[in-house]
Amino acid sequence: MGMEFLDAVKEKITMTAKSAAKKSTEIVEITKLKVAVAEEMSAIDKIFRSIGEAIYETYKTGEEGDFSFEEKCGALDEAYEKVEDLNARIAELKNTKICPTCKKHMEKDALFCSVCGERFE
Ligand SMILES: [Zn+2]
Repeated sequence: MGMEFLDAVKEKITMTAKSAAKKSTEIVEITKLKVAVAEEMSAIDKIFRSIGEAIYETYKTGEEGDFSFEEKCGALDEAYEKVEDLNARIAELKNTKICPTCKKHMEKDALFCSVCGERFE
């Protein structure tokens, strides 16, 4: 076996190890981002719940109280924006694109969404 062959094998092993390390870093990163999305979604649920409770309170008492729907809806907008940002980062790491209609991840070169049938530009 010549040195050249051994060097080539070594290089191949190094490249594979590097790409495996990169892959696992990406998986960890994607998992973190998914946890952040789940947290944001649960925050959204809480806001919706508090809006619902305020509506019921208003129905019961006939008074609006000091509840600010504007503030709650603003918080919803903010949370949805965060979710969109997080999903965009996930798509970047997974090398996918997000269907604008159903928000599912699709192959970057997909022409149609395989979930909702949306046609991509
Ligand atoms: Zn879709």
